[in-house]
Amino acid sequence: MIKVKCSLCNKKAVIELKYANKKLCEKHFTLFYEKRVRRTIVKNSMLRRKDKVAVGVSGGKDSLVLLYLLHKMRYNVEAVLIDEGIKGYRDKTIPYVEKLCKELNIPLHVFSFKEEYGKTLNETVKKRKRPACSYCGVFRRSLLNKAARRINADKLAIGHNLDDETQMILMNFTRSELLRLARAGPVVGIVEDDRFVQRIKPLRECSEKENVLYALLTGIKYSDVECPYAGEAFRSTVRECLNMMEEKHPGTKLGILHSFDKLLPILKEHFQEVGEVNACKVCGEPTSGEICKSCQMKKEIT
Ligand SMILES: [Zn+2]
Ligand SMILES: [Zn+2]
Repeated sequence: MIKVKCSLCNKKAVIELKYANKKLCEKHFTLFYEKRVRRTIVKNSMLRRKDKVAVGVSGGKDSLVLLYLLHKMRYNVEAVLIDEGIKGYRDKTIPYVEKLCKELNIPLHVFSFKEEYGKTLNETVKKRKRPACSYCGVFRRSLLNKAARRINADKLAIGHNLDDETQMILMNFTRSELLRLARAGPVVGIVEDDRFVQRIKPLRECSEKENVLYALLTGIKYSDVECPYAGEAFRSTVRECLNMMEEKHPGTKLGILHSFDKLLPILKEHFQEVGEVNACKVCGEPTSGEICKSCQMKKEIT
């Protein structure tokens, strides 16, 4: 059997990156990957050296790779984990987070739905009117923001990868949810407000496959247990469609991401008028209306 050689040296290639027309060995892939993340951070002005960064971790590959890498790049990082209280899922992923934080000596802060909202997600879904992910998404987002604020973080880094990003773009585009798109992007938020900790996505140009390989090569152990509530049908369709296009036309995903980035300033400008921020009348958290989404949902389940 002929071994496939790295495009840059004589070693054996571990991955073929068709979109970049490269085959790379362990060392050159690691360098390529880290350089791209560094470039994403710089290009989008995501971080300043003095920033304290809260990293939202779940125990999956993306968030642990992000934590590891920002720590390796010598940023001041602390991990925040949201425990939704999903039996058979969250309890299985937490040990992976604890292990990596211990190894790298990174402080870990755990915030739970039970403590914040009085109910675990398992308890919430018993009285639900909507899909579990609707509650979870809103509660998680709000709690991550609070968590980052409570530990005095300047930024909140989340592990969204290229696949997550392009799925989100295509889903919102298909549903004509342009306001949602305007609120997305490499640095998230339509308005600047002290109560919102800026969310950044340093891995948005790295595919899921590349994150898996990077975790493997650096020895990061992660959980691959899937959330039992996951599996939105529309997302699966979009994922399959994108994977097929990428396979036949390498570079499709990065192309979609870059086109979106070019449209973003126009979208943001267009939706400017909805950028006003009030304090929620119930909890005081920032919201565009009178009562924040989490408080509305909390009311539904009590
Ligand atoms: Zn090489
Ligand atoms: Zn509220």
